[in-house]
Amino acid sequence: MLKEQLPRIVTRLLRACGAMPAVRRVLGGQGLIVMLHEVREDPAAELQQGCPPETLAWMIAWLRAEGWEFVSMDEARRLVAAGGTEGGEDGGRFVALTFDDGFRDTMTQALPVLERHQVPLTCYVPTTAVNREMYCWWLGLRALFLRHDVVEIEALGARYECPDAARKRRALSEVTWWVHEDYRRKQQLQPSFARYGICLAGLNDRYFLTEAELRRFARHPLVTIGGHTTSHAAVAVLEEGAAAGEIAENRIYLQNLLDAPVEHFAFPYGDPLACGERDAALAALAGYRTAVATVDGPVSRQNPHMFLLPRVAAPIEIDPVGFDGRVSGVYRHGADLARRLGVMR
Ligand SMILES: [Zn+2]
Repeated sequence: MLKEQLPRIVTRLLRACGAMPAVRRVLGGQGLIVMLHEVREDPAAELQQGCPPETLAWMIAWLRAEGWEFVSMDEARRLVAAGGTEGGEDGGRFVALTFDDGFRDTMTQALPVLERHQVPLTCYVPTTAVNREMYCWWLGLRALFLRHDVVEIEALGARYECPDAARKRRALSEVTWWVHEDYRRKQQLQPSFARYGICLAGLNDRYFLTEAELRRFARHPLVTIGGHTTSHAAVAVLEEGAAAGEIAENRIYLQNLLDAPVEHFAFPYGDPLACGERDAALAALAGYRTAVATVDGPVSRQNPHMFLLPRVAAPIEIDPVGFDGRVSGVYRHGADLARRLGVMR
């Protein structure tokens, strides 16, 4: 409990004594890449997943008021390549907004907010979301727990009694983390989906952009489309040839579909079990100019890795303390320090 609360307490104290501008100068790096997934009016209807449009609008206004400048991933790449020297030590802090997976609500819910604030966005799209073949196990699990009050997951040998939203969220989180511990496990959920009649193709239809929608979305002047592998794969668990194919073929697919270069890439899942140095090299080899991971924190001024760039998760509720802790680097450095001291794993 303390380990979760400590960075927040430290951030609150630093804010209270007016130290955050100085902390950001030291720990905050040269910029931020913010990660979002779904944007929806009513997250409660989907087990509290997704960022409400008003929270997105709050985040944009807060970042702008605190001095961040919104840029596209092209411009972020240029600034990172310049080494964070532009604007000197105190200035030149950029922020790029990124949306993963090609959710339809990136176009219908997020884009209107970004248009109002004139903020560019990058949307990372796996091929199989668009062609409806994606094994979207995380949406399948959510649908499973939403629709049933008693759920057996054979692969875990677990039975969840979850008649209310809080218990459904807990069960969903537990099974999700079980997959995140070893991404090969996702296939083991298949029998549960079959048994409860969860149709993943139907979920693809419901949640993700079609080819025609993606083409239209990509033409918007604020929008950049990036790659996200063919099948939303945790590439680090694949043989090198398969990983290379996942990364390169998705780029070819998107470039053919959009008739435009696709230069930015996001590793699905993005944690160290899902992507590493080998995969960063494969993204470069496929012709991408940047690749983002999900390692938490700002982009460092010291030799940032252009193909394993960190990202900060967007808040899912209006939370100045928690978000400030993330974007200022307090959470990231606190976790690094605690790990070195052996406080946390
Ligand atoms: Zn993804």
